Amino acid sequence: MTDVILVLNAGSSSIKFRSYAIEGDELGLGLHGQIEGLFTSPRFIAYDRNGDQAGEKRWGDGTALSHEDGIQYISQFLTTHRGDNHLVAVGHRVVHGGEKFTKAVLATPEVVDELDKLTPLAPLHQPHNLKPIRIVAAMHPDLPQVACFDTAFHRSQAELAQAFALPESITSRGVRRYGFHGLSYEYIAQALPNFSKRAAQGRTIVAHLGNGASMCAIDAGRSVASTMGFTAVDGLMMGTRCGSLDPGVMLYLLEELHMSTQAIEDLIYKESGLLGVSGVSGDMRKLLASDAPRARFAIDLYTYRIGREIGSLAAALQGLDALVFTAGIGENSAEIRRRAAAQAAWLGIELDAAANDASVPCISAPSSKVEVWAIPTDEERMIARHTRAVVDAL
Ligand code: ADP
Repeated sequence: MTDVILVLNAGSSSIKFRSYAIEGDELGLGLHGQIEGLFTSPRFIAYDRNGDQAGEKRWGDGTALSHEDGIQYISQFLTTHRGDNHLVAVGHRVVHGGEKFTKAVLATPEVVDELDKLTPLAPLHQPHNLKPIRIVAAMHPDLPQVACFDTAFHRSQAELAQAFALPESITSRGVRRYGFHGLSYEYIAQALPNFSKRAAQGRTIVAHLGNGASMCAIDAGRSVASTMGFTAVDGLMMGTRCGSLDPGVMLYLLEELHMSTQAIEDLIYKESGLLGVSGVSGDMRKLLASDAPRARFAIDLYTYRIGREIGSLAAALQGLDALVFTAGIGENSAEIRRRAAAQAAWLGIELDAAANDASVPCISAPSSKVEVWAIPTDEERMIARHTRAVVDAL
């Protein structure tokens, strides 16, 4: 009998799952996959530990599955393919832990109710993250579940780095910079000693460039500053989110363009970034393949913003030893890494073109003053590690 941890990472229209076998100190990836397009054309796909396809199902256009339907389907699939595995805990990604939750916790019903109160701080993510915890609790009330937070890694930041220049009457209500993508940054921070002592112990900027994108300044493994703030819409330009915006723009949208708060929310989260600027797509691969002038401008703005924020985070670190690219774009796009690194050439960053094209972990030239790395992230494995630690401590 092998003990297994299941990790669920639920978004607005998708549920990713990964099961990990507890093998001594190691966690061996087992069955994994996802259901995507829950409300439009649901598609389930699963792979076994060798990466071979283990299951697939399509529900067809126009079918809508609830999160509950999705979790029940995943649960049935895992039960059918269980073998001699014994599920000991479920770990969940939860975007917001607020000020209180500074590390992963057992997701009791009381904790979930408290986390629900943070929904106004992350309306597009938090409800979807909490739903699966309640669904699994209803199915298996005695199964330990663990909530792992995207904000927790950043709680090591100094008060200054988390503060907004607003009156205390506002900031005391929890209006501060929380930072996100913490599970990804924590995974990279734990992986860095395998790659470079200097990057692990020194001043490192990690650029998490996926559909959502942010960067984090890490000093000897601890977060000291990040580009995302109160919400996950701040900082870098993203696939469909605008990133940093003069707050005066909001007043203009409200007062002069008479936009509703819903319309503004849709604008800044779903209609801006690469998609909004290019008018072509929010998907970097499509933009890189496009000849449209607006697509080129969108990529130029994307990499310019990364360059500007590298400067800001290097200032927060008072120097720079390493730059790490990760997530979909950061791990896979030599072209975006090349352009982003060029924006930071003044810091002494030089890429090795062949290494960059090959996406091998170390992509800086030997003469570069700053090490540059392309390292795959693994947020689900980080969740599995936290889940194991919480359950072991029970
Ligand atoms: P999420 O934040 O949803 O987990 P990912 O980390 O998978 O997203 O990143 C998705 C982004 O990565 C998309 O913009 C996609 O186009 C981009 N991407 C993936 N592979 C490549 C590639 N080879 N070249 C350029 N962009 C890529």
